[in-house]
Amino acid sequence: MTTTTQPMTEPWRDLWTPPGGGASRPRAWAASVAIIFQVLSTALFGQSLFRHRTMSATDAVALTRSLLQFETVNPPGRERECAQRAGALLQEWGYRVEYHEYAEGRTSVVARAGGSDAKPPIVFTGHLDVVPLGTRKWAHDAFSGETDGDKLYGRGSSDMKAGVAAMLVAARAFGKKLEGTPGITLVLTAGEEGGCIGSQKLAALPALMGKAGAIVVGEPTSNYPLVGHKGSIKFHATFRGVSAHGSMPQLGVNAIYAAAKGVSKLEGFSFGAKPQGYSGRRGSNR
Ligand SMILES: [Zn+2]
Repeated sequence: MTTTTQPMTEPWRDLWTPPGGGASRPRAWAASVAIIFQVLSTALFGQSLFRHRTMSATDAVALTRSLLQFETVNPPGRERECAQRAGALLQEWGYRVEYHEYAEGRTSVVARAGGSDAKPPIVFTGHLDVVPLGTRKWAHDAFSGETDGDKLYGRGSSDMKAGVAAMLVAARAFGKKLEGTPGITLVLTAGEEGGCIGSQKLAALPALMGKAGAIVVGEPTSNYPLVGHKGSIKFHATFRGVSAHGSMPQLGVNAIYAAAKGVSKLEGFSFGAKPQGYSGRRGSNR
């Protein structure tokens, strides 16, 4: 699977913090989302909805910490409480909020403000679940949102509760200013990690989702706005053998040998594509 990538050109790059590793920087994220709101609202609505460029960084940090405290490690996910928290805030800020559960506790949020028949809204989307903790001991608590300098630690602080928090804080600034505009829709999904099931379920509900004029995804990109995304290929392979009695093993076929040969071939597989922009080279784990 390939995706087309197209890096942002100047002067966009100057507006963002240069890429760098490390933990989440929600203040920078909040600033990024604010600028995206400003530019997109100008492009799509013909007017800038963002009249003041100040945004409460403290709120973005506090909200990220609060979202981190919902344990939404997937599997199993359990996004419901986190989704309800985000939904309650959005409702308070003037958004029309709907929930969708594709399975018990696997809750996504769709929130809208404004809206018109003339043009579809800007959609901001992020996922509420986070990947497992792994086996190594954490230096910081994974679910309390500890901070150290300008860094915030916790599972999902970068991918992507800081992004969701930044979108929420930005959304608050616009909730009651969108009447007569195409509006803003926030889609906060369950079940992204491990196959994007939550998004797939929502995409199958056109009456709920409607159309989008543009979609901004809050995946971590070191605060650069990037157009495009790597795709992935996942597959299951079955290798068959032939069983034989231990006294006559030569009559059997060992499926493990066949699987080992297959795996070795995958290691050297060439995707036949040149590295492309920021998405880098195609490949598999080495
Ligand atoms: Zn993610």
